[in-house]
Amino acid sequence: MNIELRPEIEAISEEIIENRRHLHKYPELGLQEHETAKFISEKLNELGLEVSTGIGQTGVVALLKGGDGPCIGLRADMDALPIQETGDVAYKSVNDGVMHACGHDGHMVMLLGAAKVLSEKRDRIKGTVKFIFQPAEEGLGGARYMIEDGVLENPKVDEVYGIHLWNYQPFGTVGVQPGPVLAAADEFIITVKGKGGHGAAPHGTVDAVVVASYLVTALQTIVSRNTNPLESTALTVGMIEGGYNYNIIADEVVLKGTARAYTEENRKMIHDRLHEICDGIGTTYGARIEVNYSDGYPPTVNTKAESKKVLLAAEKVVGEGVQPPYLTMGGEDMSYYLQKVPGCFFFIGSAPADREPMSVPHHCSHFDIEERALLVGSSIWVQLVEDVLT
Ligand SMILES: [Zn+2]
Ligand SMILES: [Zn+2]
Repeated sequence: MNIELRPEIEAISEEIIENRRHLHKYPELGLQEHETAKFISEKLNELGLEVSTGIGQTGVVALLKGGDGPCIGLRADMDALPIQETGDVAYKSVNDGVMHACGHDGHMVMLLGAAKVLSEKRDRIKGTVKFIFQPAEEGLGGARYMIEDGVLENPKVDEVYGIHLWNYQPFGTVGVQPGPVLAAADEFIITVKGKGGHGAAPHGTVDAVVVASYLVTALQTIVSRNTNPLESTALTVGMIEGGYNYNIIADEVVLKGTARAYTEENRKMIHDRLHEICDGIGTTYGARIEVNYSDGYPPTVNTKAESKKVLLAAEKVVGEGVQPPYLTMGGEDMSYYLQKVPGCFFFIGSAPADREPMSVPHHCSHFDIEERALLVGSSIWVQLVEDVLT
């Protein structure tokens, strides 16, 4: 492994790690990141940056203005998850039932570290760096609130970048590639309405449990039979609820699930097929089936030129460690920025080096990261800005 950290980042490595431990200890849920925002804005103010708070409710934005040139946005998300931390670390969460179990604490401090280093190079920067600290990535779509509050304007952001620490990849690797890197994450609720009755006298009833059972298996054919097997999609029915007791035929069953796709085409195909199957099965068995389909985050799609810039910057830090990312069907609201502005979302390998590979996944109660990965991410931020704006 041949890692060449930026010396300016190495010089503040203790501070970066200390900041991460502080934020880890005091996690806050989406749109409640008040102390987190205060911590960040204080640090940014110390650097003499133009700081705005309350963007997208609890977000913080800072501008580093150099000479004439483009404006690039660097984004970090701020929120934690509703998980009780079980790991045994000195900086364990003191906020009951709330934990930084996705690594967003690390995202914030990598960007703070870069802001500190870059603010000292202001006179060499030809353009503007917009540091975007965004709330509520985990489900609430904080990115949309930021965009509604004008984060991509004044000055207009020409390119946008985001990092995710990635415990699916070993320390020393960086995952970068153009095209989709995270999936669309849609949700559906299906309500099967039948006709109840006595379990011993099914004639004359419409058994919502039987209809729901056909539905679950039929829905699985969308991914297995309708979409191209070379293109990743996933459909999960995660919850079934209905019925009363042993001998009662259920009049209503509710199913909840999620659909994932890397392209808008497959996303639409799943949506359309799901409706067709529900209509068809409803007709076949005489049930009324209502579908409530809601669009979640769109696919996260990187542009070619910007991915190349990240790749080159990352190579200067981790050399051969740059690789295609370990892909999952997870979703990310970074996608909303990337729908409007070219850019790249990339992944910093952060699996704790002293643990079994894949034994510390994101969103688990013993989540932790290899803290040296913070220095890799921060170094790449600095390198990228220098490459693009000097
Ligand atoms: Zn997450
Ligand atoms: Zn995350």
